[in-house]
Parts: sequence; C-alpha cells; structure tokens
Amino acid sequence: MPFNLRGDDVCQPTPPTPLPNPYWVAFSPSVARLIGIELGADNFPKDSEWLGVLAGNQLNVGPLTFQNPISTAYSGHQFGSWAGQLGDGRAILLGDINYLELQLKGAGRTHYSRMGDGRAVLRSSIREFLCSEAMHALGIPTSRALALVGSKQAVRRETMETAAVCSRVAPSFIRVGHFEHFASLQNIVRLKELADLLIAEFYPECLASKKPYLNLFKEISTRNAKLVAQWQSVGFCHGVLNSDNISVLGLTIDYGPFGFLDHFQIDHICNHSDHGGRYAYHRQPQIMHWNMACLASAMLPLLELEHSAEESQDLLRSALEEFPVTYAKEWQKIFRSKLGLQSEEDGDTGLVERLLQAMNDSRVDFTNFFRSLSDVKKNSIPIDILLRNEFVDRENIDQWFADYIDRLQTEISSDVARKSSMNQVNPKYILRNHLAQVAIEKAQLDDFSEVQRLHQILMNPFDEQEAFQHYSKPPSEDMQAIAVSCSS
Ligand code: AMP
Ligand code: MG
Repeated sequence: MPFNLRGDDVCQPTPPTPLPNPYWVAFSPSVARLIGIELGADNFPKDSEWLGVLAGNQLNVGPLTFQNPISTAYSGHQFGSWAGQLGDGRAILLGDINYLELQLKGAGRTHYSRMGDGRAVLRSSIREFLCSEAMHALGIPTSRALALVGSKQAVRRETMETAAVCSRVAPSFIRVGHFEHFASLQNIVRLKELADLLIAEFYPECLASKKPYLNLFKEISTRNAKLVAQWQSVGFCHGVLNSDNISVLGLTIDYGPFGFLDHFQIDHICNHSDHGGRYAYHRQPQIMHWNMACLASAMLPLLELEHSAEESQDLLRSALEEFPVTYAKEWQKIFRSKLGLQSEEDGDTGLVERLLQAMNDSRVDFTNFFRSLSDVKKNSIPIDILLRNEFVDRENIDQWFADYIDRLQTEISSDVARKSSMNQVNPKYILRNHLAQVAIEKAQLDDFSEVQRLHQILMNPFDEQEAFQHYSKPPSEDMQAIAVSCSS
C-alpha cells in the first residue's frame, strides 16, 4: 500500500533528481517478480527503461507511470535523545505496485534533507542491497532490495566517492518515528488516522478487539521483540537503532553501519560512530524495548480517547512489560533449534548461556561454531570433538560438550535428522564485513562481479555451496578492523 496518509504535515511531492549516466550494479530477480517486472534472459528487466526509473531519471515505464512520488516526515529519538523532526532525507517513495511500496534511496534532496545532499554512496548502497537480500534469505523480516544503480557522479563524504541509488521494497516503510511525529505535533486526529490506516491495512485483527489501539501497540511490540531475537540468533547488529529506524511492521529497515559478528563478543559495537556502545550486540534487545516505550508514549493519546489518563498509562505500561517476556521466549525457541533440540527442558537456557559465555571468552566464530555443532553425535566423546580446539579453557568446554551430549540423549531425533534440521537454522554464509569490503573495492573499480557473486551466495545461506567454501571463513586479522560509521 502507498503511504496514503497524505497531507503536507507528513509528506511532500518529491520528484527524484536525475542521476547522470546510470548503470546496473546489481539486481534482484526475485524482488522483481514480487512486483511483476518482466525479466529478460539475463535476469535483468526486459524493458531497459527500468534502469532510468530506478535511477530516478524517469517516472514511466511501458504503461506504468509513477504519478506522485513523495517523501515523508517523521520525527524521533536518535542515540537516546529527542531529535525533533527528521524525515526521508534521501528516500523517495515512487509509489506502490502489487501492494508493495517502491522507494529510491539516494535519489536526491527532499523537503526533509536538512543539510544533507540527498545522495547515498556506492559503498553503503552495496551494503544495503546485499544485506537486505541476505536477511530475507535467512528468514528474517526485512525490507527488500530490488536494484542497485551506480553513476560516476561525485559525492563528498570523508573522501570523494560516487553516487548510487538502491531501490527498496516493503509493504510499508512506516516507522515508530511517524507516530512520534504526530504525537509531537499534538495532532491527535492525524495520529488516529495513522493508527487506523495501519490497522486497516496490516493489523485487521485489531479491529475485532475492544481495545484496537492497545492491541495495535502489542502487535507491533511483539513483532519487534521477535525480530531482535532473530537478529541475535545470527549475530546481527543493526548499528543505529534510533526510533526513526524502527518499522511498525517489525521489519529490519535502514541498513547503515550494521555488522554480523565474526567471533562472538557479547558487547561488540559494529558502528564506529557509536562511542558509548548504546547499540552494542547485547544491548539491542533492551534498546528495542526502549523504542517500544517511545511508541507507547506516542500512542498514549489514542488510548486516552477511550480510557482515563491513568488507565491508559497502566494499560500501556503492562503491555510494554510483555516485551522482555516475548523476547525471551523467542530467543529460547530459536537457540534451542540452533542446538538441535526439539523438546524443551528447564536447563536449556542455562546450556545456551554457558556456551555463549565460553564462546565470548575464547572469541569463537559465531556462525561457524553453530554450523559445525551439527557434527556432534549422541555418542561423541568431548575430547574427540574438533570444535573444542576453538576454546582456550578446554576443561570448561569439555564439560559443556558432555552436558550437551547428555541432553541429546533425551531427544528422539537421530543424528542425521538433527544435523539436517540444524543446518536449516544455522547458516553457513553471512554477509561478513570483509566480504562486503572486497566486493565494494572491486565495484569502486567498476568490477561488479563480486557484488553479484556475493548476492548469489547469500541468497542460499543454508546450502553448502562447495565452490564457495572460502566465503564462510572468518576474516584475517587485518580485515577484522574494518570500520563502518554513520557516514553513508
Ligand atoms: P539514518 O541514520 O541513515 O537513518 O539517517 C538519519 C536521518 O538523516 C534520516 O532522516 C535520513 O534521511 C537523513 N540523511 C542521512 N543521510 C542523508 C543525506 N545524504 N542527505 C539527506 N539526508 C540524509
Ligand atoms: Mg534512517
């Protein structure tokens, strides 16, 4: 659906700024199919005019015309402080196709660009393109990336770089920040329209309830609690969990200085601009909870339409208290499946926590450890398990493996069946920073083959892919220190 809550208090007509001499850097046929773009034999659009559309150079392709491109206003909290009005500073919503919104990120200045140039650089656009698709393939809710279009147009960041436009697709890009926007304007009528629109389009089950707005809040909070549990389970750190980057559909959106853990480090900070570590790996769940508190306070006036002020606060407060419970349940469920456990036992959480502590202490590669764990058998002997060599404190990990093997005895699944189910939840391939970096450096020299290869590999993260085994390797020491910051 389009962001059809029109009005100049929330959006402005915004034609994209043309991008000189655009060319394809990468393209996602599976997203193209979602929105009905016809493909040629090369898996790029049959109609070459799509290149112009996705570069922001034209608004029509065949019979299709994007009549009314807009950018939207939102407000929000950045790094824990109220930042006032923000908005799509460089994202332009072209329109909707097949109930999906199509947005161009980096397509030039908008009404909300403030001091920014409205552009995105090739480097960060490659990261957004690849990660959106990689997350989808991992089964994690996310905005999708349709295409990546490059140009020689110069863009100034710390150094001179070149511009790119990443086209993104999602059922909606509405954020917590849109609620905060109307709440900060104290415009309850518009706040209500926004909530009603969201319920009608995406949460129709709330209509049937006696407290639709409370239930809307609960649904959004539940989706985001589950989302952050999924992030934790693949070692994903978002990097900028500001309330304007939080989707009210529970999607991962706004990929910037994100990172996947290589070795496990519980307090890993992926964003070099995040000096205090507000968005470190272990803080993401509580920060998402904090963002849900921002949403709750923005939605408070809606509850007050039907309840007393005190009752509204109580209702939202107890709804907010469900977040850590939902999160913990989801986290336990996913980590149990990462260990290959189908039944539930009281000691399971302790077993996972002891493992993560040991992995943290020895800086063990997160993805590869879980992938290889499926080789452990019910009759394995701890000191023969190769994975123990990854740990410094052998005595401790031997005890852990002994307890894990004991626990496996209580499972009915065979070693073969368990391995197969574990390999469906423990990916072999993730978008490691050093892999993205190699692809970026080649692309900056006009060779896009590595971006495209990585895209292919990451679309099948659970498959062995014999020819690409080396893409599962952790980074060498010099590649561990790649810095990613808010500059994009
Ligand atoms: P982000 O942290 O990437 O979500 O961005 C925070 C805010 O800054 C959003 O409102 C963006 O639209 C805006 N912004 C980021 N980069 C630019 C840019 N190059 N030009 C205009 N606005 C930008
Ligand atoms: Mg953002």
